[in-house]
Amino acid sequence: MASSSLRMIDIAVNFTDSMFKGIYNGRQCHVADIPAVLTRAWTAGVDRIIVTGGSLEESKEALAIAETDGRLFCTVGVHPTRCKEFEESGSPEGHFQALLSLAKEGVEKGKVVAIGECGLDYDRLHFCPSEIQKKYFEKQFELAEAVKLPMFLHMRAAAEDFYSILVQNRDRFIAGVAHSFTGSAEDRDKLLQFDNLFIGVNGCSLKTAENLEVVRGIPVDRMMIETDSPYCEIKNTHSGINFVKSTWSSKKKEKYDRDCTVKGRNEPCFVRQVLEVVAGCKGIGDTDQLSNTLYHNTCRIFFPHDLDSVADTLLAGGHNAQ
Ligand SMILES: [Zn+2]
Repeated sequence: MASSSLRMIDIAVNFTDSMFKGIYNGRQCHVADIPAVLTRAWTAGVDRIIVTGGSLEESKEALAIAETDGRLFCTVGVHPTRCKEFEESGSPEGHFQALLSLAKEGVEKGKVVAIGECGLDYDRLHFCPSEIQKKYFEKQFELAEAVKLPMFLHMRAAAEDFYSILVQNRDRFIAGVAHSFTGSAEDRDKLLQFDNLFIGVNGCSLKTAENLEVVRGIPVDRMMIETDSPYCEIKNTHSGINFVKSTWSSKKKEKYDRDCTVKGRNEPCFVRQVLEVVAGCKGIGDTDQLSNTLYHNTCRIFFPHDLDSVADTLLAGGHNAQ
């Protein structure tokens, strides 16, 4: 399966999701299986994974998972739809301090590589009203500032507010990625105006012909790839499906087989399909070189200390892809 020099980092994996414990809609369908999922990912050419934290509790769990393997890392932060937890904790400042000390602990362990996911999600205001989302999105710049980490950003249907909060806080964060990008060409161009911002592309970014057109306009040196698994898989009905080359045999969750993927559950090996669709829609023939460019972008932002050791060789061969 793995080809010669294909090398990928999946920057968004929700390993804390119950589906990776075998639980779907509250029902146990199979055993917890992160080790089997990881084996498939490493075989596919993935060599690092960033596990997403979306609340204080989830960030603790993400860090615990990241500590189980040298190739796993994580984020610490609160997702826009979960920002009510600051106030529900009884002490927003205490909650913030708990996030800060978790982030510091994770940095010391070499595991926490970003603050997030944080941002704005106006598609799901029923979970958290926009005023609270904005307030605690801003608050999390304080975290990024304190630990000097890049930001792992989430934006849905909130481009204007998101953009103006970024502008107001632009000196408070060193870099960031707007992950799971599904916005318009206009949204994309606004983000690209920040020279320290990258755009994360996954299956949700590649659903329609219009999506592909937007992705075509993201320069490869400003892009990262991800799965956002267990969500955002590339489906047969999606526009980019014809560019997909790599497939895995899959079984329904009720007929679980550890050597197969689970139908309907995305997992990090599929980041390879994201790479293939990006290459296809941009007309890039050399997938290996594209993977090297994206790998280098990701290292530069999230793994700068390792850049010399892991990415020097990639710089030489991987910088001309477009
Ligand atoms: Zn997200």
